[in-house]
Amino acid sequence: MNRIRYRFPRVMVLCIVLAAGCQRGKQSGSGIDPEIFAEIGRIPAIDNHAHPVRVAGKEGPDHEFDALPVDNMEPSSDPSHLRSTDSGVIAAWQALWNYPYNDSKPEHFREWQPHKKRIAEQKGAAYPAWVLDQMGVDVMLSNRVEMGVSVEPPRFRWVSYIDALLFPLDNSHLAARNSDRKAFFADEDILLHRYLSEAGLTTPPKTLDDYLKSIVTPTLERHRQGGAVAEKFEVAYLRSLAFDKVDRADADRVYNNFIGKPAPADEEYKRLQDFLFRYIAGECGRLGMAVHLHTMAGAGSYFEVSGANPLLMESLFNDSGLRKTKFVMIHGGWPFNREIAALLTKPNAYIDYSAQTLLFAPTTLASSVREWLEWVPEKVMFGTDAYPYSDELGWEESGWLAAKRGREALARALTAMTRDGEISRDRAFELARMVLRDNARTLYGFN
Ligand SMILES: [Zn+2]
Repeated sequence: MNRIRYRFPRVMVLCIVLAAGCQRGKQSGSGIDPEIFAEIGRIPAIDNHAHPVRVAGKEGPDHEFDALPVDNMEPSSDPSHLRSTDSGVIAAWQALWNYPYNDSKPEHFREWQPHKKRIAEQKGAAYPAWVLDQMGVDVMLSNRVEMGVSVEPPRFRWVSYIDALLFPLDNSHLAARNSDRKAFFADEDILLHRYLSEAGLTTPPKTLDDYLKSIVTPTLERHRQGGAVAEKFEVAYLRSLAFDKVDRADADRVYNNFIGKPAPADEEYKRLQDFLFRYIAGECGRLGMAVHLHTMAGAGSYFEVSGANPLLMESLFNDSGLRKTKFVMIHGGWPFNREIAALLTKPNAYIDYSAQTLLFAPTTLASSVREWLEWVPEKVMFGTDAYPYSDELGWEESGWLAAKRGREALARALTAMTRDGEISRDRAFELARMVLRDNARTLYGFN
């Protein structure tokens, strides 16, 4: 179980990635220690968080790469690295698709799309794994509603979604807050009904006791049996991360009085959500699944950044009943990179720096990576957040680019620590392996 196999051809591909990476490192005149950079290029990474898209087969195009797709939101200002004009997008196209241009003209991308499509068709069901090879990624933790043909173990490991079970009451008042929440709660209601129907029900049970026993626990157990290594909450898109400790009797009262009826006041409903969150987190610990949480500013113009501050979760980590649950704060908490570091001394708290690898230049990210490594290095993990953002920045391009920048940020942090006499080069190599691979292996019990 959980065996990660090395295969000879993949090692060869990694060598090619390494050679290309070294050349690019030299070209950028980056001041990175070449031995550290080379070592980092050789390590087959475990990507702690991403959204691979499966090959369209009998089931048609893939819609299960996210429980809350962010493609139908009110306009907001895109971060510059997500725009198709970003030089990294051009570099990804050149590396992956032999894009012959050195610019991001829309007509050039359009002209070259059939070439990309042809490569994908030639690879068939092996295409997603081929993308991982280009990224230098051995195993990708795949945050998806469901897995499927072409995104399957051993290269792809499932991280399922569980937010929908926090919201069993009438969500119309929460949804009325803004247009983004309206779309999100509609998606969560659909997912809740999917989980109900998988348990043989069409409506939630009449009591909290039944809801926990016949829906919540069986859904978690089904995910675990289906191969999930973690449950993901993107709840920061739906409410704040402040989950108070709530008495069972209080939660019973809210659920039993309001299920199937108009919802109570938001504060009262929140108490039920808080109870359910801690219940699910406890069950994840029992079942050997980690809990992944989106901790970062999020997409869309209505996202409440202050509610995504990881410090809001401190009482959760301090809950003695949840010390067996491993909480992974996904995306490194930006703009709360320093606050999140302080939480790493909690025995049940971990971080990855996915998404920041795409959204920030390696020099910017390197200072945060250094700080985390100076604090609790065995809790820090590499990730990409590969995601189908646009026609120009698909999961393939965003994954390739984030992997490249994520490796460079790590190389810069370790170079600086070595040059300042803080660590030896051997320790730099060891830290590189930990961040790119070994910390995740230990956390998830991969062999
Ligand atoms: Zn994500």
